[in-house]
Amino acid sequence: MERQHAHQHESMSMGSDNFSGRSGDHSHHKGHGDHEHHDHHEHMVRDFRKRFWISLIITVPILILSPMIRSFFRFGDGELFSGEGIVQFVFATLVFFYGGWPFLKGCIGEIKKHQPGMMTLIALAVSVAYIYSVAVVFSLEGKVFFWELATLLDIMLVGHWIEMRSVMGASSALESLVKLMLSEAARLNDSDEVEMVEVSDLKHGDRVLIRPGEKVPADGVIVRGRSSINESMLTGESIPVERGEGDEAIGGSINGEGSIVIKIMKTGDDTYLAQVVNLVREAQASRSRTQDLANRAAMWLTYLAVSSGIITVTTWLLLGFSLDFALERAVTVMVITCPHALGLAVPLVVAASTAISAAHGLLIRDRSAFERARGLDAILFDKTGTLTEGRFGITDIVLVGDLDEESVLRMTASVESRSEHPIAAGIVKTTVDRGISYPVPNDFQAIPGKGASAKVDGRAVKVVSPGYLREAGLEFDDALLSDINAKGRTIVFTLVDEVPVAALALADVVREESREAVKRLKEMGVRVMMLTGDSNAVAKSVAEELDLDEYFAEVLPAEKSAKVREIQQRGLRVAMTGDGVNDAPALTQADVGIAIGAGTDVAIESADIILVRSDPRDVTTIIELSRATYRKMIQNLWWATGYNSFAIPLAAGVFFSVGIVLSPAAGAVLMSLSTVVVAINARLLRIAN
Ligand code: ADP
Ligand code: MG
Repeated sequence: MERQHAHQHESMSMGSDNFSGRSGDHSHHKGHGDHEHHDHHEHMVRDFRKRFWISLIITVPILILSPMIRSFFRFGDGELFSGEGIVQFVFATLVFFYGGWPFLKGCIGEIKKHQPGMMTLIALAVSVAYIYSVAVVFSLEGKVFFWELATLLDIMLVGHWIEMRSVMGASSALESLVKLMLSEAARLNDSDEVEMVEVSDLKHGDRVLIRPGEKVPADGVIVRGRSSINESMLTGESIPVERGEGDEAIGGSINGEGSIVIKIMKTGDDTYLAQVVNLVREAQASRSRTQDLANRAAMWLTYLAVSSGIITVTTWLLLGFSLDFALERAVTVMVITCPHALGLAVPLVVAASTAISAAHGLLIRDRSAFERARGLDAILFDKTGTLTEGRFGITDIVLVGDLDEESVLRMTASVESRSEHPIAAGIVKTTVDRGISYPVPNDFQAIPGKGASAKVDGRAVKVVSPGYLREAGLEFDDALLSDINAKGRTIVFTLVDEVPVAALALADVVREESREAVKRLKEMGVRVMMLTGDSNAVAKSVAEELDLDEYFAEVLPAEKSAKVREIQQRGLRVAMTGDGVNDAPALTQADVGIAIGAGTDVAIESADIILVRSDPRDVTTIIELSRATYRKMIQNLWWATGYNSFAIPLAAGVFFSVGIVLSPAAGAVLMSLSTVVVAINARLLRIAN
């Protein structure tokens, strides 16, 4: 049921993870590490800012002393004072080692990992420029590249600073989104009534009811009930463990089919904060596939830059030109090939895309799934709680035994008070509205996709679907239900000691937004299908109302994921959207799993993307944004690499014979221009609404 999210932490900058000191596998662990992580990011932003400003200040005297800049602004001919070269050398050395440090360190990291990338190239380019210039200062004939070197590093530093800041900004947008979503807990008061409270308000000693599929809000001890609990998100162990009274329940683990009451042993605040940070971090750390593409491109650019550099030097030397000229060409090639724009191409789009998605209430847990969303052929929606409101009310009660309406409601509501299902909530609400109180049940068990059972006042009470009744070989006079069936109502049966005593008809309403969502998806060329555990009659009426392409009714939880597989085998790329315990396996199976934010924790835990606003129209936003984001990334990759195809030959001096030679300075300008284009292009990411 659980999905292994790739937690290999990838910093948003393809190079920066090398000097960030972070690596390896961040599994779900709680507590202090999470805060450190956040601080670390902030620390890096500050570090880049500091290095940038200090380097910029040191760059000023280098610029003033550089002959080229001076002649450009026409002040001072010749040397201002003797030993000027040495002074320039000292300042340049400061910038090289202080400003260049992150890149030099990153380069070493990349080489150690046998993955030369952008850091290697930047380091190589500035090192060649620096070493050559130093040689010129002390003996060699030629010209120094100090001011080019310094400005190059300034640009790189400001680029990384801005990049990290926009990533941090996206982080905080995500954080407020997660806080919006994180669920409430059902606290029991002294008379065992449920009160919904914020998880962060839970105190030591509070008793909390945990229904099937819900998350244990904070560490505690089970005081009532038995259930299997899935702790995989904490321990990695995917087999649920049986837990009963007296056992510990760990905050963050997910309850299975039983219903339990725990006594909180810690405050909810710790778990709550840890969860916020966890989800945000997970979302930030999930890999973008396009980023991998960018990383590969950067590696090839590195090889290209190095070989072009070598070819350039040797060719010019063989043609009989001076070393000074040949080296200048080679350095220009290195500088120009430096894929700074490439390093920003994807992260800046990711940051812009994250900000937009957060504004639309989309919490993306798995970026590569989000990127797959652009190629979706079909969307499967769960019915109850997804396409419909999931706010049921009882419309009819058909009695067949000796029990009167009040006793039936009393027993039914007692069982349902422990269920997380929307039907259950509807039954409890109607019962309470009628002023009927119900006892606390014992031995509650969910029957996934079929109903629920419990002991009420010593009697075995079950609330089940028509399918369950059929399978159990129990009879219910169909004639009594024909009116209700014609209206497309959901029907459940109450059994007492395995004997049907009543049928309850419930009405749910189709969400207004579903209509528009279906229409827009169809316009986008996506097939819209519905998957439900409800009866065929209900499914049909909803499918007709919404004009769906296909629907599947009476699908059991295990069959839901099989259905998804079946559709995938038809060659369709399919997304599943659901809210319930029964949807979780299907969410995992689908190419893209989308959970309704108001749904159960287990659905949220199994999904790639969460619709925090619980609005099915946001599914269209996912597809649109995924398409737009991908287009932007590819555009940016072209902008970042494409210019090399003409800039490299230019820098190498291929057009020397026609009088066109690019100076290293012009190379640096061209390179930064491409960075600016990429940054602006990322900012222009938009979707229609
Ligand atoms: P959906 O796929 O539409 O969300 P489910 O798979 O959750 O539906 O439920 C399928 C059917 O199982 C329901 O229509 C209902 O008949 C029955 N059912 C499931 N849980 C319960 C419950 N707690 N109380 C009564 N009936 C239930
Ligand atoms: Mg549902």
